Amino acid sequence: MAESLYDTLGVKKGASADEIKKAYRKLARQFHPDTNQGDKGAEERFKQVQTAYDGLSDSEKRKAYDRFGSTNGRGAPGPGPGGVNVDFGDFDLGDIFGARFGDIFGGGATRGRARPQPVRGSDVETEVRLSFEDSLRGAEAKVPVELTVACSQCGGTGAEPGTAPVICPECNGRGVVSESQGLFALSQPCPRCRGNGTVIEQPCSKCHGSGRERRRRTFSVKIKPGVKDGTKIRLKGKGEVGQNGGPNGDLIVVTRVANSDTYERRGDDLIVEVPVSFPTAALGGKVEVPTPEGAVSLKIPAGSEDGKLLRIKGRGAPRLKGSGKGDVLARVRIQVPKRVNKKERELLEELQKGVG
Ligand SMILES: [Zn+2]
Ligand SMILES: [Zn+2]
Repeated sequence: MAESLYDTLGVKKGASADEIKKAYRKLARQFHPDTNQGDKGAEERFKQVQTAYDGLSDSEKRKAYDRFGSTNGRGAPGPGPGGVNVDFGDFDLGDIFGARFGDIFGGGATRGRARPQPVRGSDVETEVRLSFEDSLRGAEAKVPVELTVACSQCGGTGAEPGTAPVICPECNGRGVVSESQGLFALSQPCPRCRGNGTVIEQPCSKCHGSGRERRRRTFSVKIKPGVKDGTKIRLKGKGEVGQNGGPNGDLIVVTRVANSDTYERRGDDLIVEVPVSFPTAALGGKVEVPTPEGAVSLKIPAGSEDGKLLRIKGRGAPRLKGSGKGDVLARVRIQVPKRVNKKERELLEELQKGVG
């Protein structure tokens, strides 16, 4: 079975839904077992045509097939690296599409797969603004977000409270309808309930039967100490509501941290500019350096040049991964006096002579 579903129906890969339908009708008639009594080949072909149409007539399945096809090539690949011949043509199609031969031949049991598949709700991303200080010490932030959630009036069923979805009278809850043609029946998703097996007779007045509504919700989010600008915090199951019983998506909160007047963050280290007088830089001395937990006294070594970085261990930002903190890096900024008094001028002139 080295042909794609498109090949089976004799259509191009980009064929429209209409073209696929037409091709299917034509081939189904041609290979129908009624007109090919006892012809095993025709019966096989009929099954293949049925499977192909099953996969390509449903836009979700078709998308899945197109993806699958591009990963593994068209149809069945040759023997794999281990010499095992895996026939994707049969194996995966059955798995993905849940081919319903039980329905086609004998109109038998409905498999769960005839029903619409559960779909996980989408993830939603939102931002939370934090002061630089809060990013270091952690915070509890209120995050408002607008979401599609289950309707508060019907709880997501889409049916008016006090009523319930009823078994679809068209398909008797099977989700598929069969068109009887002699010995065989062609099955298709039920047009009345769209495969659900149930229909809503009295739609919910709030959501008009969709079972969903847009709502503004506010979540309380714990911000860990040490978050950076752009840190993502994932709140499991707080995103958009799933469909057909699928799980909710997640809410992803992205931190937006304001700049600090004092510090520049580099990884978990904080850089701070420290003004140092020329004599202190030349002779050595002590200066006060701000850190998030208060000023510390820092020893300036004699002969420090402008721009030199001095490390104060463990006073930086808390590490998000692991424990402990980064460092504070004090950047020496040598101050040149704008004005000098008489005494200073004399001293500087003497120094200048000595240097010269
Ligand atoms: Zn509702
Ligand atoms: Zn139905």
